[in-house]
This record gives sequence, structure tokens and C-alpha cells, in this order.
Amino acid sequence: MERRKAPNSYSRQTMVAFEVAFAIGEGLGVGAAVVVYFSWPNAPIWAYSTALGVGFVISLVIFLRIRPKFKCPQCGKELRRDAMFGMKEGEPIRFVCSTCQIKWESGMSVTRGGGD
Ligand SMILES: [Zn+2]
Repeated sequence: MERRKAPNSYSRQTMVAFEVAFAIGEGLGVGAAVVVYFSWPNAPIWAYSTALGVGFVISLVIFLRIRPKFKCPQCGKELRRDAMFGMKEGEPIRFVCSTCQIKWESGMSVTRGGGD
């Protein structure tokens, strides 16, 4: 199977999606923590942790929704998770187009918690 380097617009768009998602999610989490602070005197620490945790979960959900889909640069076919390789930490993320028989190197690698 041929190996080619994917255009780096994909990794760039993914990074932007990641930053936007976490800016929104963590903003909501911090906002919720502020609400807890002002509306709940002597709130236990877990109330703050929960607020920030929810913000983190929202970040992930937003990221999964807005992250760009990888399309085969050769034929334009959308390559989904089942065409994606690179599951372990530190592994490069690759997409295989079964139509073109090309393995595209996304230029990204799996990071802890960020590979999904
Ligand atoms: Zn293709």
C-alpha cells in the first residue's frame, strides 16, 4: 500500500477545533464554578471539581462534534474511525483509503486522552 503525507490543513483544523471546544467548555466549567461560589456558601470542594469536570466533558463533546472529518485527498471519500489507525499513545494517526489503497499520514500522533 502506498504511503503519502496528507495535507497539513487537516491537523491545523483539528487543532483549531480543539482550542475552540476547550475554550467554550472550560469557560462554561469556570462559569459554573463561579455560580457555585456565589450561590452556595461554603460549597464543598467536590462541587467545584464537578463544575470543572462537566466543563471538561462539554469540551470533549463539542470537540467531537466540530472536529473536521478526514477526506481522502485523492478521491474525496470521507474516512471515518474504522479507516483510522493509531490508537496507542505516541502512535502516528493514519487514515487508509480502501478505494485508492493509500495510507495517509495525518501528521498528528495520539496523545493521552486526545486520541478519541
Ligand atoms: Zn481515496
